[in-house]
Amino acid sequence: MQFYSESLTSYKRLKTREVKIGNLFLGNNHPVRVQTMTTTDTMDTMATVEQSIRCIEAGAELVRITAPSKNEAENLKQIKDELRRRGYDTPLVADIHFTPNAAEIAARIVEKVRVNPGNYVDKKKFEQIEYTDTEYAEEIERIKERFTPLVKICKEYGTAMRIGTNHGSLSDRIMSRYGDTAMGMVESAMEFLRIARGEDYHNIVLSMKSSNPQVMVQAYRLLVNHMMEEFGEAYPLHLGVTEAGDGEDGRIKSAIGIGTLLEDGIGDTIRVSLTEDPELEIPVCNDIVKRYSDLMANNIVPVIEKLPYSPFEYKRRETFEVSNIGAKHVPVVVADFSKFEKITPEDLQSIGYTYDTATDKWNIGDAAADYIFCNTALEFDLPGTLKVILYHESWIATTDKAKYVPIFDADQYLDDAFEKSTLLNFVMIDCYSEGYPDQPLEKTFAKLEQDKTAVICLSSTNSNAMQSIRRMFVELMNNSIKNPAIIICDSKDDTMDQSLIHYSIETGGLLLDGLSDGVCFGHYFGNKKISPETKTLNSVAFGILQATRTRISRTEYISCPSCGRTLFDLQETTAKIRAVTNHLKGVKIAIMGCIVNGPGEMADADFGYVGSGVGKITLYKGKEVVKRNIDSNIAVDELINLLKENEAWVMARKISKLLWEYYQ
Ligand code: SF4
Repeated sequence: MQFYSESLTSYKRLKTREVKIGNLFLGNNHPVRVQTMTTTDTMDTMATVEQSIRCIEAGAELVRITAPSKNEAENLKQIKDELRRRGYDTPLVADIHFTPNAAEIAARIVEKVRVNPGNYVDKKKFEQIEYTDTEYAEEIERIKERFTPLVKICKEYGTAMRIGTNHGSLSDRIMSRYGDTAMGMVESAMEFLRIARGEDYHNIVLSMKSSNPQVMVQAYRLLVNHMMEEFGEAYPLHLGVTEAGDGEDGRIKSAIGIGTLLEDGIGDTIRVSLTEDPELEIPVCNDIVKRYSDLMANNIVPVIEKLPYSPFEYKRRETFEVSNIGAKHVPVVVADFSKFEKITPEDLQSIGYTYDTATDKWNIGDAAADYIFCNTALEFDLPGTLKVILYHESWIATTDKAKYVPIFDADQYLDDAFEKSTLLNFVMIDCYSEGYPDQPLEKTFAKLEQDKTAVICLSSTNSNAMQSIRRMFVELMNNSIKNPAIIICDSKDDTMDQSLIHYSIETGGLLLDGLSDGVCFGHYFGNKKISPETKTLNSVAFGILQATRTRISRTEYISCPSCGRTLFDLQETTAKIRAVTNHLKGVKIAIMGCIVNGPGEMADADFGYVGSGVGKITLYKGKEVVKRNIDSNIAVDELINLLKENEAWVMARKISKLLWEYYQ
């Protein structure tokens, strides 16, 4: 029941069927293909051609274009002809929702069509309808009738197809039987896949997208598992996190979802959905994919016979509490200041602490690191919630043993000559790094088991560090070691963009599986550890915890990448909404380009801002419309009113502080 990856300890691609899309081959160990989607009006041939060319020049190997109706589907011919005339033979993909007629036209023109099984035949009305077995079977028969003609056209024209399930647009029928679950997503695609296989049509790619990387990862794993169980083979997978948003958050979410799966050899093509121009998605795709171009299989890490946890559902590893780490505590963030020669109070601003000289008090932000790792004790009083980790030789000289805590390597930890803290001790364990001396794991485990003050720090210098660390978590679980454990992750990448992807992939997958109680990020340049932007590293750490939904410290934005259906400037509007709501910790706000797909796709957002016509916006609370077709000029203000009416609005910390001081 557990199978979803060829290897959990060595990089090995899942072998999938080969799919041909025009001249491009996908699956069957072909390189992971990168792709994107245009945001122009499909009826604007030249704008769509120009944007497609920008995407292709940036490296896109497939370009998807929306075809909401027959007109747009027919216009794909003009677009394709113009691209071919200009010498671009990149395969085009028609994106279809709700309109089988458009799909049947597009399948005769472009190299691939994407259908969404949640809305190809079924409609979504957000109704909880009970289906009897007979009614359910009748519905499947209806889908077969409506979907088979498209399959036949694709077969005849050699057109590929993506059966693209989205978490937010599961049909009422699927929801009634499986709920809003990864299993529902899998079954939604499997129903269509069975029909296609029944017609002996196999030029198929599948996807299981969600804006929540946790749901997305579980759904893909489950899909692989079900395909192998039912068919004994797997079809290629298109990976993506939907409505990931923009900027750092969008990149982190995408890297976590896509990278977690690629680490396990799952995925044949990827799309990073950003609320930005589509050509900007391609460098992010490339940064993700290039990690795997030279990642060789290795046999250093002992194989996993059986995972001691389910890879298909979230359950946090059971740990006891040590100080504020483990058990029910949110994962902690450790800021690495070990390369600072001297640390001043101003330096702590970068990790969420602001010192107010007038009141002689520290203000602590929502994203304030919990620990700093330094070489020597600080020369000023620390904020109340912040503790400092020191190597043993520095720690022993400190007087405040409540604020300063030691870190040991495994040998020091086992050696009683090294005095230990009575409160909290960090113990470093290397995870199977190549060339690293064997550690006395048995003895270390025996001591850890009895030690209620020890927090384990796991790291690996292997190229497959995530797998190596996961292997050690498995070892801890198999040996019933319940000490909390944090991940130490170092990056040697040249740019911060690449490092962001590195940290997201190496820690995100472990957090999604409930394995980690904290993170600490370091940065090397060449062989030298440096102290780069501590502010950026801190922000990335909290961003990763937010994206894995293990620690919420900021507002969550679910914004679609926009496409030819979008009726307003989504990037500008998203930036505007962000600017006025970015202090609403934990509130999920969706900003969606169109009323056709937006409400379905905005998943579990608390509030929705959805384009519903030219210059018109409809506001949602959950799935319920609360203000319909309001003028876009006043829509952001109306959104704020809605947040206030629902007590989701709090004053920005600074403003509320100023007001409070004014009224004293
Ligand atoms: S929700 Fe956004 S990306 Fe999806 S179809 Fe509508 S406008 Fe296009």
